[in-house]
Amino acid sequence: MASIYLVDDDSLVTESLGAALRLETPYAVRTFQSGADALAALSAAPPDVVISDFKMPGMDGLALLKAVRKAVPEAVLMLLTGYSDKDSAILAVNEVGIFAYVEKPWDLQDLLLKIKGGIERQELTRQLRDANRDLERQNRELRLAHDRLVTSERMAAVGRVASGIAHEIGNQLALVGYAEAIKAKARAGGNGEIAEFADVIVTAQKRLADMVGEIKDFARGQGGEAVEVRLEPADVTAVVDEALAILRYDREVGARELVRDVRRRPLARLHRGKFAQLVINLVRNAAQASPAKAKIEVILDEDERGVIFVVADHGSGMTPEVLARLGEPFFTTRGERGTGLGLGICRRIVDEHGGQLAVESAPGQGTRVTVTLPGLRS
Ligand code: ADP
Ligand code: MG
Repeated sequence: MASIYLVDDDSLVTESLGAALRLETPYAVRTFQSGADALAALSAAPPDVVISDFKMPGMDGLALLKAVRKAVPEAVLMLLTGYSDKDSAILAVNEVGIFAYVEKPWDLQDLLLKIKGGIERQELTRQLRDANRDLERQNRELRLAHDRLVTSERMAAVGRVASGIAHEIGNQLALVGYAEAIKAKARAGGNGEIAEFADVIVTAQKRLADMVGEIKDFARGQGGEAVEVRLEPADVTAVVDEALAILRYDREVGARELVRDVRRRPLARLHRGKFAQLVINLVRNAAQASPAKAKIEVILDEDERGVIFVVADHGSGMTPEVLARLGEPFFTTRGERGTGLGLGICRRIVDEHGGQLAVESAPGQGTRVTVTLPGLRS
């Protein structure tokens, strides 16, 4: 219910007008003998309407209404004035934003109309403000959705271009077979130097092939169309072991100590190829962040939440800034050796398996990536 403050140093006014307002309006009416008293009550019970006498000892009506305007911006302000104060009162109407001034002796019907009008206007102002707020919120949401759309379209375009380039490069990479043949021939013919040169080419080509593979994987998921992944029941350990067998030929992984720890042999619904890709990406990242001979742990387990697959290293770790940008396409700290696509691909693979991927990392201490998948047993 709306409330009215009536302020006048003349108790005759507060009593008679207060009684009339209580009788004629549905509003809660409070009367005060001074501006200071009214101000003191403001914060506990902010009024909707303040009707104040103009001439009062101490704080005059104008000073009071100014203070009320500050504390309760929406309040409807009215000034009660004697006839002789009319001119200064009219000035005040503009200065403080007073809704109406009422001459003494007041015409009750006129005063009631003014109060009603003021409260109606206040209600309208509030509705307008709420509508404005809604509009602003909708605007914000729209902008966000728009930004998201633009980003995803841009990523789709990047994906298309990247996959075109990757395809071209991939074709040229078939030439690695020649380099391997040269290497074998040179070695057989006792030409160690040429064999070494050929080996440099083979290594470089293989690295390029890995990058092309990552870009192709990335591009596949950027088209916007959801590709249905066929998941089949599998022995997770066997799939991990297949991936680790491939990784033995990886130079960086080969130079680290890979520790496999199978605590339980879980079963899960997997896409074997994709899951192997996940294992390879994570172990490679771990190896690339670790010094030679450092331990990299690959842990398999299962509990009531499902299958747990962990890759933990004791390498460089990540700063909070790097951690925050993980999985953002093309974000890499490895310069031209990195594509910045590996972890994004991992996230997508885990998503396609209905699982979760969590990364814990501390600079200088290492990184622990935990993948949880729904288990077949649970
Ligand atoms: P890339 O390996 O091509 O850089 P990724 O998406 O695989 O792309 O990784 C992105 C970045 O995340 C890396 O450049 C690196 O800074 C950081 N990172 C990923 N894995 C690890 C890890 N195990 N330890 C430390 N940093 C990591
Ligand atoms: Mg990587």
